[in-house]
Order: sequence, then C-alpha cells, then structure tokens
Amino acid sequence: MGKSTILIVDDEEMIKMTLRGVLTKEYEVLEAENGKEALQILYRDSSRISAIVLDIVMPVMDGMAFLEEFRKYPEYNSIPVIVATSNNDEELEKKCLEFGVWDFVMKPYNPLLLQFRLRNAIEKSRLLMSERDPVTDLYTKLKFFQKVREKLESVQGKKMAFVRFDIDRFKMINNFYGPNEGNRVLKCVASELRKVAVVFDDFVYGRIENDVFACCIPFEKENIDLLVKAIQIRLKKINNDYNIKASYGVYVIDNQNLDISEMYERAYIAAKSCKGNFAESVVYYNDSMIENMKYEQYMINQVNRAITEEQFVVYLQPKVDLRTGMAFGAEALVRWNHPQKGLLLPGDFIPVYERNGIIVRLDQYMWDKVCQLLRKWLNEGKMPKPVSVNVSRVNIYNPHLIEDFKNLIVKYQIPPELLNLELTESAFVEDQDLVMETMKKLHALGFRIMMDDFGSGYSSLNILKDMELDYLKIDMKFLQNQEGNDRGEKVLTSVIRMAKWLQIPSIVEGVETKEQAELLRDIGCEYAQGYYFAKPMTVEAYEELAEGKLLPVYHQQLKNYIDIDDIWDTVNGLTKIFEKILLPVALYEYSTQGVLSLGSNAVYTGLLDDRDLKLACQSTGKECKLEDVLSDIIKRNRSKKYVYRQDGAEYRFIPQIIGKYKEKVIFMILLVNVEEYS
Ligand code: C2E
Ligand code: CA
Ligand code: CA
Repeated sequence: MGKSTILIVDDEEMIKMTLRGVLTKEYEVLEAENGKEALQILYRDSSRISAIVLDIVMPVMDGMAFLEEFRKYPEYNSIPVIVATSNNDEELEKKCLEFGVWDFVMKPYNPLLLQFRLRNAIEKSRLLMSERDPVTDLYTKLKFFQKVREKLESVQGKKMAFVRFDIDRFKMINNFYGPNEGNRVLKCVASELRKVAVVFDDFVYGRIENDVFACCIPFEKENIDLLVKAIQIRLKKINNDYNIKASYGVYVIDNQNLDISEMYERAYIAAKSCKGNFAESVVYYNDSMIENMKYEQYMINQVNRAITEEQFVVYLQPKVDLRTGMAFGAEALVRWNHPQKGLLLPGDFIPVYERNGIIVRLDQYMWDKVCQLLRKWLNEGKMPKPVSVNVSRVNIYNPHLIEDFKNLIVKYQIPPELLNLELTESAFVEDQDLVMETMKKLHALGFRIMMDDFGSGYSSLNILKDMELDYLKIDMKFLQNQEGNDRGEKVLTSVIRMAKWLQIPSIVEGVETKEQAELLRDIGCEYAQGYYFAKPMTVEAYEELAEGKLLPVYHQQLKNYIDIDDIWDTVNGLTKIFEKILLPVALYEYSTQGVLSLGSNAVYTGLLDDRDLKLACQSTGKECKLEDVLSDIIKRNRSKKYVYRQDGAEYRFIPQIIGKYKEKVIFMILLVNVEEYS
C-alpha cells in the first residue's frame, strides 16, 4: 500500500512547514491556505485523502465555514477531520463535534501527539469504511445501512421490518471462555443469517458492532418467528455449558422516509425493553416506547433532588418466625413520596435506576436511613430485631462496597448482625468469584446475608452449598412457576428441607393466605413474610406493632405446635430434652393409615423392650388398640383414662397432641408409674 495522503488546511506558512517536516516520512502531504482552497482540492481528489488537519481561524473561508460546506457531501463522510484549537473553547468544540469532527489537537502542535492521532483516525475510518466485518464477513454498519436504503427503494410498497438483536450476556462469554469462543458465537450467528437469507428474496443483514446484528426482512409475523427460531436453535447448539439467548427488537417500517439510523434506533429501543426479561425475547416497537424513554429520563433527572429533599422513605414489612409466631425483624422497602405523583412503588423507578447504575446511590441512602433507625431504637433502649436491606446486584461491582458497609456500622455504632443484607439470586451467577469474595468480607464484618428471590430462574440448589449464606428467601410465586399445584408444593418442600440440611433457614415471602402459612409451617419453613401477616408499613406503624411484640392472629394458631422436622432432627434440642426426661416418653404419628412410632427416649425403649403398647381402659378393664385410642382422642378432643400394665406394674397413659401435619396428628405419650408418682 502506498502512503496515505493528509490535507493540511492552515494559513500560517511556518506551521505548514513544521508539519510537512514531521509528516512527510509517513504521509503524502497536501496543503491549502484556507477553507476554499481545501474544498477545491477535495473536489478534484477526495478519494485520495485519508485525513484533514484543519485550522479554525483563517482568512477567506475559516474552519467553521469549511466544515459547514464539507459535511454536505456524503462521500466525504469517511474522511476524518482533526481540528487544531489554540485554547479550551468548549462552545467551539461542541460545534465542531456537531459537524462531525473526529478529534482535536492543541496548537502549537506536538508532532508526536499529532502523528498518533492521525494514525488512530485513519485506522478507525478504514474500519468504518470497510464493507465487510473481518470476523463474520457480514456487512459493516454503514454498508448495511446503505444496503437497507437501496432495498427499501427497490421493494416500494412491500411491508418490511427492521430487526436488531444482540446476544444476552455476551461479555460474560468473552470473559469466561475467551474471545475465540466469543468469535465462534458471532460466526455461528452470521452463518445462520446466511441460511435465512436463502429463504427470503428481500433480506439484508449485517453486523452493527460487537454482538449486535441487524437485518431487514419482509414483514410478516411468521417471518420474524422463523428468523428468531432459526437463530435460537443455532445458539442452543453452540455450547451446552451455558445458555445463550438473544434479545430482538423489531421495528415494522411504517415510514420509509426515516433515516435508517432512526429505524435502527427504534428497533433498539424495543430490544432494550426485553433485556433481562426471561420470558420475552422479541419486542415490537411502538410509539409509546419513546414515551417510556422520556419517562425514564424524567425519573433520572429527578433523583438527585429527591435524595436531597428526602423524598425516598423507608417502609418496613415484618417477618414472622413460623415456629413461635413472633416477629422476626423486618425488611426495608423503599417508597417514593413524589411531590406530583404521590406515593410511588419501587417497580416504578427501581428498574430504571438499575439500568443506569443510579440504584447504588439510592441503596446507600436507604442503608443509611435504616442504620439511623436502628441507632434511634438502640438509644431508646429498645432491643431492635434485625432489619434487612436490599442490595441491588449493581453494587457487586462497586469496589467500595465493603468499605461503605463498614463505615455505616462505625458511623452509627450498630452491631452488624442487626443489619441483614438481601442480595438477589441473579447477582450470584453473574460473577461468582467476585460475589463469594464479597460475601466473605461482609461475613468477616459480621453481617448476615440472605439470598433473595431464590428460584427466580438463574441458579440451582447447587449454588447453595458453595455460598456462605445465612438465609434463603423464596418467593411464594415459586409455587406458581411449577406446573400443577401439587408438584409446586413438593418442590418447595424439598427446597426448604435441602436448605435445612445445609443449615440455611428459609424465609418464604409473598404469603397471602392462612393456607399458605400453615403449609409452610407444616413443611418446616422457619420464617415467613407477606400480606397475610402484615403489609409493608411506615416506620411509625411498625414501631407500634413491635411494641405489641406479637403478631397475635398467628400466634394463637401456633400454640402447642412444634416443628415436625425437629422430631427427626437428631442434633436438635428437642431430642436432647427427650433424653433428659426420666419418664418413658414417645412420639407417635396418627393418620387414617395407622399409627407410626416417630421415636422415643431410652427409658421408654428400655421399658417396652420391643413390646407393643397395649392399653387397658381403666374403668372397663377392656383392652384397646393404640390406634383406636388415639382416634378416639382426636374425635372427642380429650382422653378417657387408660393404663399400661407390665411385669405387675401399672403405668398411667398420658397423651398430648403436639402437632398437626396435614391429615396427620402427632402425639407425645408419657407413661407414669402410678406407684412411684402418687
Ligand atoms: P423484594 O425484595 O422481593 O421485596 C418483596 C416485595 O414483595 C415487596 O414489593 C413487597 O411489598 C411485596 N410483598 C410482600 N408481601 C407480599 C404479598 O403477600 N403478596 C404480594 N403480592 N407481594 C408482597 P415492593 O415493596 O413493591 O418492592 C419490589 C421490589 O423492589 C423488591 O422486591 C426489591 O427487589 C425492590 N426494592 C425495594 N426496595 C428496594 C431498595 O431499597 N433497594 C433495592 N435495590 N431494591 C429495592
Ligand atoms: Ca428483598
Ligand atoms: Ca424477594
């Protein structure tokens, strides 16, 4: 390749001379006295010129006037212009950028810097101007846009759609599996697009940048479905280790006069609204999306003021210990007391703030407020229960996160176990090493960590055993996600049991009915949260409630009941207490199927020594089967007097219902030697 040609536009001879000296080694140098001369040179020979170095202040035609003329010619688009400025004139720079200027250099020139910038600009413009992308051999963005324009003109009247798509979490593939794997994915997509192109007469496609592709396709819903399906199937085949999926935005072209870049923008707006949404991966553009974008912008513009004016407030939703019915702290949930719109729920603004990182500031504000509150309660001599705060996944990438939490507990002198952290499940899969590292440090500081929204789709139970978790939060919606009510229940049960096994207590949230609460208690879930117990409430309302100490409705129902799982749990306190009881004591489970022994203490086992518990009615002396006795007790809600006789001794039979588990009833039975104890 021959030397590239640079056009220097400057009126000062001295400067041109110096530049010539520096640049001739690497470039052909053309010179112009002013804008007018430069335009003449371009007119004759634009295709030769690789870059322009432009002075602003010149006689006859100055730099700005030149630029205004220059940008009227689309064929000059690919020629990078570097403007020489002598002072920091922001206005001027802004104007230049609007005119499509690529870069700036300071006058007097630093020759090395100028060479560097020229090289960069030329390289970039080459890439931009090349027709084919070197990785996939598809059209590059500009070429593709041009081809779409041509296509639209040639198919006048035919309904077409512009589709933009990109690969979800492509960065992660690149990071985890290396750029070669990333390129392989891109090539697969390209080859699939080529196959699709065979099916349609009017199909134009290209690679826009990175993992972004676009195509223009005759519009029919079936056509879009076919395209999506073809690519999806191909992506699935690439690698079993990870699940690749793309998100598509579709703009059905209803206005052919729009710039192609505008069409692209519309498809992009549509695609953005399906990011992070697992169910939906194809979204069609409609005009309301632009409204949404404006709304988002509005929300973003307001956030600073809302924080300084303390428009965000903490609401608290109590959690309940299902085994006792006692309150078990609360979760802090943000509400926005908006001056015009009234009380806004997180759903109205959190997703927006998560998308652009602002959430980090809002979260910190909330944590601070919660710590303030805990401090206040401590000052008032209350014994506050822990309050959990939400930690958006975006925080994981905040390098000061640990420091921030540490500062908080120092600032307010809070025992760290009072501030629990809820981290959503999806954060755990993003960058597992980073998350584990972060959790370790937070644990070292004494914080407790809850995995929020478990079961929302990302991870498996497997992840639990690798993570140092203190609590698992499961949404009641989890049940809905499983087809068939019964199956959902079974899955929920086994998740909770498994967590127990790993010694991670579960908190189920979104509990709305008594049935749900009872089910959870019966399957051994430790904690619950939901409208059935209490809705999120103001701090004042929570303080009143906490003074009452109990959530009365539920506590009533729980009296006398124990956690069924405790019975089988050999390291549990209950079993140990059993062993300390000097009387023979045993647990039986009664159901219509019969009676099942759940366990007994050593005294009981020694006494019966494999014999059945044969009872005699004290008044009639008649022998009764245990099964009938228990069934009778359940029916009458009290017991007749029975005795058990062995080796001449008589034991009084003392039954007590201690739990109900679906249709099963758990009995604790004591045998009291009448002679010894009377
Ligand atoms: P989440 O962390 O899963 O919080 C539980 C959500 O479920 C809350 O919604 C709560 O009001 C709602 N909820 C509680 N009980 C029931 C019930 O029985 N039935 C139903 N249908 N819903 C129930 P909310 O307050 O609208 O918050 C929504 C989400 O916004 C939260 O989900 C959390 O992810 C996020 N969020 C809330 N506050 C903050 C915050 O300060 N920071 C961050 N990063 N996220 C927050
Ligand atoms: Ca939460
Ligand atoms: Ca949750």
